[in-house]
Order: sequence, then structure tokens, then C-alpha cells
Amino acid sequence: MNAANNKEENKYLYEELNDCNDKDEIKLNLRSETEHFIICFRENDSKCIDKVIDALENNYSRITINLEQKLENKLIIEIHSNIKSLHTALGLQDAPDWIRGGLGAGKIIIASPLNPPPGSNFDNVLNTAIHEFVHILVNKINSNTPRWLNEGIACYEAKDNNENWIRQTVSEGISNGEIPTFKDLDTGEDFKTFFDRNGYQYSYTMVEAIVNLFGYDKLRKLVKSPNKFDEVLNISEADLYKKYVDFINVFYSFNKITLSTEK
Ligand SMILES: [Zn+2]
Repeated sequence: MNAANNKEENKYLYEELNDCNDKDEIKLNLRSETEHFIICFRENDSKCIDKVIDALENNYSRITINLEQKLENKLIIEIHSNIKSLHTALGLQDAPDWIRGGLGAGKIIIASPLNPPPGSNFDNVLNTAIHEFVHILVNKINSNTPRWLNEGIACYEAKDNNENWIRQTVSEGISNGEIPTFKDLDTGEDFKTFFDRNGYQYSYTMVEAIVNLFGYDKLRKLVKSPNKFDEVLNISEADLYKKYVDFINVFYSFNKITLSTEK
């Protein structure tokens, strides 16, 4: 957590309202509206709202250009500082503790950066707002985007997970010869299996490899036609996997000595 945030003045105006989330038993009775987003929150989270807004607005152009998609309307972001109310808002009563956010009906629901779920820090939660925003844009291109591709783009664009966690997982996978395939991480709505297979770390590097080897134009085309590797990338799925493994061997299999155990 970053205590320095507390010293900053809020540069955005807040207004009280009643219709932002009136179903929720713990009402999010404050909101701040920006060019592209409407943030709903409670008073105890007001100290971090400027950071949330800056994270979203400062990344809006880059991401909408990369994905060639824009928001048609302002997107609602709900911030729930209580983990239970976060899970309720997400409609996930048995959600694992590590969940930092997700999508509701046409809106984004995240934890409070001031009260990060176990295993996460302030910045992880902050960037989760960006991660979910990326999902909204990817789903606009293709609502059936495979899990590995959808999560990979969200993680790669948002950088919401610690780099060391990704590096450590992937370099261990290289050492053990256990790199999942795209299909291994195509787990649909089964996020537990995706997490257990280190899906967040590997899918990040899969998209990183595609962007570096083929560019964003091909990445967007692959989202549109995720099963047409040959047509979009001029390469079979098996050969793309080989190229991906080569890529991570170059960029992730060295430098282990400097890896920290930071979570
Ligand atoms: Zn996600």
C-alpha cells in the first residue's frame, strides 16, 4: 500500500448520488465522472480515486489505438473496499480470495486499491481497472475470444501482475519443459483451472510473443478469427506454439539469479 497517496489532494470533483448502485446493500454513494469513465465508490476510498482515474484516462488512447476499439458510452467502474461486497457485486459467492475484479452487466467491478485482496498490492488493483477495461474492448471485437487470448491481452496491456511473478513462473516452466499450449489455457469460464495452470502468467507471454513477432494488426485479426491461425498469421497453430516457446526461451530463460521472490 502506498501511504504517499493520502497526502495528495483530490483533483476531480465528486458528487453524491443515489442511482449509481442502489441494489447494493453497501451503497456506493459517491461518484466521479471523467471523459470516458464514471467511478462509483464510498467515502473511505476517496483518497485513491484520482489514481484510479489517472490510470484509466492515461491509458485510454494507447489501448483504444492498439485494439482499434473505443467506448461508445462512459463506462461505469465500481470500487468495493469490502471483499465480500466485491464478490456479491461480481455475482460470485464462492469467489477465490485472490480475485481483484471482473465485469458486471456493462460495467467494471474492482476491489479497492486501498484494501488489496491477498497476494496483491495497490498497483495490482489499480491496474485491474485497466485489465477489465481491456476485456470490454476485446469482447467488442469478439465476445467468444478464447480465454488465453482474452486474458493475455488484458494482462499484457494492463500490466496488472508483478513482472517477477511472470518471469519466475515462465522460467521455471522452461526449466521443467512444461509450457502450456494455447488449448491448455482455453478454459472458458473455469477461472480456477486457468489460475492453477498459471494462465495469467503464460497468457501474458503468449500475447507478448504475438505482438512482438506479428504486430497489433495481426493480433486484432486473431481476436476476430481465433481459430484461423493459418489464415491470419500464415502459420499453423503447432508452428505458432513452437515460435512462442522459442520466444520465451530467449526472453525468459536467463537472468534467474536476479529473480526475487516478491509476490
Ligand atoms: Zn481478466
